[in-house]
Amino acid sequence: MGNFKPFVIDTTCQDLLQFIDSKQQIREEQLLSLVEINSSSLNPVGVNRTGEFFSTLFTPLADSAERIEVHPWERMNFSGQISSQPLGDLWHFNKRPNAPVQILMCGHTDTVFPPDCNFQHATRIDRNRLNAPGAADMKGGILVMLSALEALEQHPLRENIGWTVLLNPDEEIGSPGSAPILEKEAAKHHLGLIYEPALPDGSLAGERKGSGNFTIKVEGRAAHAGREPEKGRNAINKAALIMLELDKLNHTRPGLTLNTGMIQAGETTNKVPDLAVFKFNIRINAAEDAAWCVQTLEDICTTHSRDEGYQVSLHGQFGRMPKRFDSEHQSLFNLLQRCSSQLGVPIHWQATGGCCDGNNLSAAGLPNIDTLGVKGNFIHSDQEYIELPSLSHRAQLSALLLMHIATEGLPFLKQSETGEKIC
Ligand SMILES: [Zn+2]
Repeated sequence: MGNFKPFVIDTTCQDLLQFIDSKQQIREEQLLSLVEINSSSLNPVGVNRTGEFFSTLFTPLADSAERIEVHPWERMNFSGQISSQPLGDLWHFNKRPNAPVQILMCGHTDTVFPPDCNFQHATRIDRNRLNAPGAADMKGGILVMLSALEALEQHPLRENIGWTVLLNPDEEIGSPGSAPILEKEAAKHHLGLIYEPALPDGSLAGERKGSGNFTIKVEGRAAHAGREPEKGRNAINKAALIMLELDKLNHTRPGLTLNTGMIQAGETTNKVPDLAVFKFNIRINAAEDAAWCVQTLEDICTTHSRDEGYQVSLHGQFGRMPKRFDSEHQSLFNLLQRCSSQLGVPIHWQATGGCCDGNNLSAAGLPNIDTLGVKGNFIHSDQEYIELPSLSHRAQLSALLLMHIATEGLPFLKQSETGEKIC
């Protein structure tokens, strides 16, 4: 490990916090440009424009900048076929890969708003709040990361920290293309910092549930509804039975929830429908519940496929395992709380059913804090807003955390002898 010593807020540190404040105006202007670019996960052109914008900001800070193609998103569509959705590129910026503490900082360039929805532009709600797509989730958060790194790069002990900034194009759809890269990078770092927005009251997320997205395809047999309905096998009716059965799985294990969210079937009322496709999401508290759920779903499909004339098949998987709040996370939060109180702002955390790349990093063994981005509310809706002053306030919190680590090292690296994690 490097030469670490106790951390105090000295004049250098104060000047750097001041420096972050002085960037507020320029960050607001950058954010206004960024939210005008539609970057739905399914709009790779817009995601790439967003990534290119950020690359002009991060490249000057980094030793290396790399643009990486990710695998397309393969999923079952409502015709029951596997379709391949191209995704935008992932950006990877790296600094000091041989420093004693390696930190992985993650953000996503995609949003949930498709190019044809009505929510495409920014509206100022009042002096401090901006309503705009992706302003809080998470274009503002990536700007927070940028300000924090700009401050770190002026700190005299910056050599103690090496960092990777990873901007992925597909977080909002569960990171299907970037998951292998997140896993690989997790193994090379000691700590993960993710810039998802804070919870509406400013608290951070602690434990997170795991999540899986699934599709069930029910194939029946078409027939004329008037002439010979008895020859048909109604896929809609069969799907309805299965959906009711799935609904009963709710709370069969602690924290397990299942929501059927989409269905498509049938063409006309005078034909017995031969195809029904529906999609559902499952959330779990415990990693071992994932295998149990998949087995249960497969058993249900097998049972219904035994009925003459029907074929029921399951597609999908658990993309994110639950994120536990273990002793390493506890020590990280304690450290963050120290930084926060040094800024005069108390900070708390709470469990959430939502998922993010923090689940992926945690599953790959990397302790992380995943809600270091801006304050705001109503994300994933056209009411989404960012509290603009949090662009500076949150950057100061992250910068202080980084300066703390550059000075004292990481608490859990000092406790254990696991400092030799670098691959
Ligand atoms: Zn997000």
